[in-house]
Amino acid sequence: MIPLDHIGIATHNGEAVDDLLKRLSHSTASVHEDIDSQEVRVRLYGKDTKLETIQPLSADSTVARHLSKRGEGLHHIAFRVASAQAELDRMRESGFQPLTEKPVPGAGGKQIFFLHPRDTCGILVEFCQPAKQYAVQFEACDQLEQQLQLTGHCMASDTYPAHRVTGGPLPKRGQSLVVHNVSTQLAREKHNAPAVPVLISDITPASAHAQALHTQWPKARLVILPESVQHNLLPAVLLDFWASVENE
Ligand code: ZN
Repeated sequence: MIPLDHIGIATHNGEAVDDLLKRLSHSTASVHEDIDSQEVRVRLYGKDTKLETIQPLSADSTVARHLSKRGEGLHHIAFRVASAQAELDRMRESGFQPLTEKPVPGAGGKQIFFLHPRDTCGILVEFCQPAKQYAVQFEACDQLEQQLQLTGHCMASDTYPAHRVTGGPLPKRGQSLVVHNVSTQLAREKHNAPAVPVLISDITPASAHAQALHTQWPKARLVILPESVQHNLLPAVLLDFWASVENE
């Protein structure tokens, strides 16, 4: 089965649901973003199958119309797919009616589209393609994350058992950043390395760390930052890096 990415909840008052989810499940939003094209404010909670709250920012938004007709509550379910465009084509060929001609930007850099609920037992169904992630291997995750937050390049972070993951709205749509802590990773013999296109590190190419990384993640391209790079310059270095890999 295609994995369920999230369940969408429509609400007039995102703050109230935010407070409720804190009390019910100790959840805090990992994404909090206004999608101007759809005139909605979106918050995402959880790691695997997530909850998404959608709050209209204008009386004309589709969600505002949904709320006036059906009231607050469950709004849609969303499946996670590798390619939103390929899935949209597949659905159209199977006789479903997508609500947009092509996928549109969703929260957290996703590409999304919906199917007309007439064809899906009255349930609004979304398909979403996650943002492309670029991994950064970095010894001093805390400083890097702090700098990215200070400069507005990163809003949220989450700590997983094996590594720290930093994400959130970034200047370039469809991209997000994952920061792995080198020391923690290497302290473990085995870890779930993602399909990493690139590594950036503050280590030297000759170091044992660099060589171990190459062995562990042979497909990764190791980009070594000069040791002289100041932490407060890292966001600029990363933006250059994103620009350079944009079309890869
Ligand atoms: Zn959704």
